[in-house]
Amino acid sequence: MNIPKKMKAVVLMGPSKVEVQDVETPVPGPQDVLINVQATAVCGSDVSLIAKPWEAQPPYGSFIIGHEYAGIVAAVGSTVDEFQVGDRVAVEASYGCGRCRNCRLGYYTACLNYGNRQRGHRANGFTTNGGFAQYAVNHINTVHKIPDSVEFNEAALITNLGCILYGFQTVGGYVVGDSVAVVGPGPLGLVSVGVARALCAGKIFLVGTRDSRLQMGKAMGADRLININQEDAVEVIRRETQGMGADLVIESSGATTGPQMAVEMCKRMGKVLLVGYPEEPAPVNFSMMGMRNVHIFSVRGEGWANCGRGISLLSQGRISLKPLATHSFPLGQIEEAFRTFTERIGGAIKVIVHPNA
Ligand SMILES: [Zn+2]
Ligand SMILES: [Zn+2]
Repeated sequence: MNIPKKMKAVVLMGPSKVEVQDVETPVPGPQDVLINVQATAVCGSDVSLIAKPWEAQPPYGSFIIGHEYAGIVAAVGSTVDEFQVGDRVAVEASYGCGRCRNCRLGYYTACLNYGNRQRGHRANGFTTNGGFAQYAVNHINTVHKIPDSVEFNEAALITNLGCILYGFQTVGGYVVGDSVAVVGPGPLGLVSVGVARALCAGKIFLVGTRDSRLQMGKAMGADRLININQEDAVEVIRRETQGMGADLVIESSGATTGPQMAVEMCKRMGKVLLVGYPEEPAPVNFSMMGMRNVHIFSVRGEGWANCGRGISLLSQGRISLKPLATHSFPLGQIEEAFRTFTERIGGAIKVIVHPNA
C-alpha cells in the first residue's frame, strides 16, 4: 500500500471544538499495525470528552479523537507476523500498559497505569490518538480480523458488543433461560438485548421512553417492551416474572433514577449490571439492595478480549449490529455527524464517519 506522509484527521482544539487538519501519518512501532480507517463510529464518550476533558487526555491541538473504528491493515511493525497488509480488521480502544496486575489479568480497561505513557499505557481515542483519521496505529493486542461477511460499518461498532459481552462475563455469563430486563434503549441497551437473545436468555424486557427505540429493541430480540410513560416498569416486570423480578437487570439509561429502578425490578439474589452512568450522584436504597440480596456490578469498556468474541457472534449471524448504524458522513462533515448523533436527527442511533471516502 502506498502510504502518504500526511493524512486528514479530526483534532480536538478546545472544549467543544474539533477541526479537520492535515497531520503526519503515524508510523507503527514494532508491535503495531497501521490501519487505513474505513469506518469510525461516534460514541457518547466522544461527546463527553469533547465537552470536558477526561482523565489523562492529550493536550488540545494534538489529540485525534475516536475509539470505535475498523479498517484495512496498511503496514505492519517490524516484529508483526500476526497480521498482513490487506487484512480487514476491527479494533478495541484499550491496550492498557501490559505490565500492571489488572492488565495481566485481562482487566486492561481498568489499567493501574491509566494514562501513563511512560509505562506504555494506550487507550486510543482517550489517552492516545484515535480513529477519526485516515490512518491509525494500534497495538496488535487491540486488533481483530473480521471476515468478509462483516462490513466495516458494523465492525466499527464492535466495542459496543465487546463492552456488553464483558458485562455478561462479569456477572457470571450463564444466562440461558434467565429473565433479563434492560433499562434504556440506547446503543448499549439495544446491544444488551441482542446479546441476551444470542445467549438464549428467557424473557427479555426492554424499558424506555421512545417507541421508535423500543421497536428497534424488538428487532434485536426483546420479548416485552415497556414504555414508562404508559406503564410502571417495576410493576410489569414483577407481575410477568411471577412476582419475583428479573434475574439480571442491565441499567444502560444513565438516568439518575436508573440504578434504583434496576434494584427494584431485580429478583432476590439477582444481579444488576451498570453500563450507563449518570453524571450526578444517583440515590439508591442500599437497604433494599441488602434486604433483597441484590448484587451490583459495573464495567468500563471492553476487557478480556471480548471484542474478539463479539466478532464470533457477528460472523455466525447470532447478532447483527447493522440496524444500529443508521447514518454516515465523510470526515469533512464531522460536526454534522456529531450533531446528528447528539440531537438524534432522523432517529439516529449510531453515526458512522468514513475517513477515506
Ligand atoms: Zn464508545
Ligand atoms: Zn496496566
